[in-house]
Amino acid sequence: MNNNVIIIGAGQAGLTAAMSLRDQGWTGPIHLIGAEDQLPYQRPPLSKGYLAGTETAEELTLTSVQALTEHQITPHFQTEVVNLDRATKHVHLSDGSTLGYEWLIFATGSKPRQLDIPGNDLDGIHAVRTPKDADALRASFTQGGPTVFIGGGFLNLEVAIEAVHHGSVTVLEAAPQILGRVLSRPAANALADYHASLDIDIRCGVTIERILGKNGHVTSVALSDGSTIAANRIVVSVGAIARDELAAHSGLETAGGIIVDQQLRTSDPAVFAIGDCSVFPSVYAGAQMRVESVQNATDHGRYVATVITGSARHHYQAVPWFWSTQGQRRLQIAGLAGPDDEARIIEQDESKGKLVVERLRDGEVVAVETINAPGPHMKARRALATLAAVPLQLTS
Ligand SMILES: Cc1cc2nc3c(=O)[nH]c(=O)nc-3n(C[C@H](O)[C@H](O)[C@H](O)COP(=O)(O)OP(=O)(O)OC[C@H]3O[C@@H](n4cnc5c(N)ncnc54)[C@H](O)[C@@H]3O)c2cc1C
Repeated sequence: MNNNVIIIGAGQAGLTAAMSLRDQGWTGPIHLIGAEDQLPYQRPPLSKGYLAGTETAEELTLTSVQALTEHQITPHFQTEVVNLDRATKHVHLSDGSTLGYEWLIFATGSKPRQLDIPGNDLDGIHAVRTPKDADALRASFTQGGPTVFIGGGFLNLEVAIEAVHHGSVTVLEAAPQILGRVLSRPAANALADYHASLDIDIRCGVTIERILGKNGHVTSVALSDGSTIAANRIVVSVGAIARDELAAHSGLETAGGIIVDQQLRTSDPAVFAIGDCSVFPSVYAGAQMRVESVQNATDHGRYVATVITGSARHHYQAVPWFWSTQGQRRLQIAGLAGPDDEARIIEQDESKGKLVVERLRDGEVVAVETINAPGPHMKARRALATLAAVPLQLTS
């Protein structure tokens, strides 16, 4: 039997798993297979510095050919895994080749959810997931005119900060407040006020009927109240969906992502799923969940390497944390809170845009949201890390 580890997906999670496996002493071959036509890169700057032109394509890159060679990782870029045969432990690649594996890791990520309304196929509608997407949007900004954002999540709010340098900006959100699912009301309001101070028009509780166009290009967005908003371009960010189709097709258990256990193992013991594509039991949420963050992708990648090399001693339990840079506001979240968890303001200094909010469930702090307050964020991460680790049942 071969001792290959095959990693499907060369994003932040897949690359971290590959590097960590070698760093932790895996001596067998490691194959890193990625559909995109470039070295693994980080996505966060795509909606921030890269879009604004202050960060270069080179700065996005997470590794080099030399580092992969030194780690004896075999890259297969611009190559897709098109089929998986779990019975014989083989994957089939888009270049026609076949590879056998001892361990297989899904790190296939997620993709933007498509907008399902009339007019969604017109030119001038953007989503930001890849450098090419960001390049196309930046080029469009140079033509000026109004930008309409559909969805008031972190990603669109970051892009709106850049868009407002090029023309008027309107953000349309269906829910009664922006970021209501992921942030407390005080923190969401602080960010909404900041955006309003930059002349970004955020409209909540709106229903979009259709996108209107002329000569195949968007011209406006029509709302259910009969009004229309002029748009030279539309940026859509209404959530992402896990890329779990290959896993589901091969008979692995999926439900809005690839289901894994506390060791990130799928319903097949030789197959793992990590990063955006994985639905895992979070000790912080007390539930199965899917998380889209760099922390989650990299901590999953490091942890899965410990399981495969036999050095894991605990269930997966890294403290979840997240950041979003909104112009002069740096939001950081440590822990996981739900919309029903209580919010208590601990510190606020409007002159510095500073805010610290604790989120409580049954009187216990489950998360801390900070804006422009890195010290309290790091303190919260350390405090949340004391959550008891669940030891593995070691059989030998
Ligand atoms: C614009 C943007 C801004 C963001 N900003 C932040 C931020 O500020 N903070 C934060 O914490 N997170 C942020 N995120 C989220 C973060 O980038 C993701 O959670 C993280 O990149 C997930 O990494 P991943 O490796 O799981 O998935 P991905 O990065 O999506 O990588 C998966 C890779 O797998 C490949 N793939 C899929 N199927 C196959 C197949 N069958 N064969 C071969 N390859 C395949 C895909 O092409 C892709 O390259 C942002 C995301 C975006 C898009």
